[in-house]
Amino acid sequence: MLSIQNLHKSYDTGKSKLHVLKGINLEIGAGEFVSIMGSSGSGKSTLLNIIGILDEKDSGTYTLDGIPIEDLSEVKAAEYRSRFLGFVFQSFNLIAYKTALENVALPLYYQNVNRKERNLKAMEYLEKVGLAQWANHLPNELSGGQKQRVAIARALITDPKIILADEPTGALDSNTTYDIMKLLQDINREGKTIIVVTHEPDVAAETKRNVILKDGIIESDEYITQRVLA
Ligand code: ADP
Ligand code: MG
Repeated sequence: MLSIQNLHKSYDTGKSKLHVLKGINLEIGAGEFVSIMGSSGSGKSTLLNIIGILDEKDSGTYTLDGIPIEDLSEVKAAEYRSRFLGFVFQSFNLIAYKTALENVALPLYYQNVNRKERNLKAMEYLEKVGLAQWANHLPNELSGGQKQRVAIARALITDPKIILADEPTGALDSNTTYDIMKLLQDINREGKTIIVVTHEPDVAAETKRNVILKDGIIESDEYITQRVLA
């Protein structure tokens, strides 16, 4: 599904260069459920953003579903993002003045799907995450867990190959974290590849593979016995 070799990334911070990723090698196959851990500032988001074609590497290779991700135009990058990737963020990133249904439907708008079909599909995905009754509510009328469900439905609606989630439970209490991780496990069981960045060991234990970033490289990378949520 994706293959990363000897990937480097630095940030220019004015005077000095901050070398964040110093030779990352990572292969992730279809259907995997991978967690990326590491201390704050270790480059987890940087790596996820490069995988998500939201940011560019400095050197090394990145291949996504057989396509080399290299010197893309903004148009191509946007096309690949919308074709291959779904994003879930800690802060949900919902549009405040749009309803749950409209938020979920939005990616289809950018794919020029007509309104009727968009809304039908969005309803189907809201049902999937258990929020059909909340379709016409605005984000500020929803709990944190409900907002994250809306965000997950929005990420899924284009049927992406990979879901990228950056601290998806970072703003949620432990019960809600459980519910969101159970939902992600259900989605993974249906075959979706998921990569989740987290600093919570409990969350990592609920995935199937733990990658740990330290000092710019992958310190460990292990398949684990997943704690399956009932
Ligand atoms: P993590 O997600 O593991 O906490 P990040 O990938 O966000 O870490 O950041 C890694 C390091 O790169 C941090 O020191 C951060 O301050 C720095 N950094 C991240 N993004 C930028 C940027 N756009 N410009 C400069 N420095 C950045
Ligand atoms: Mg981060």
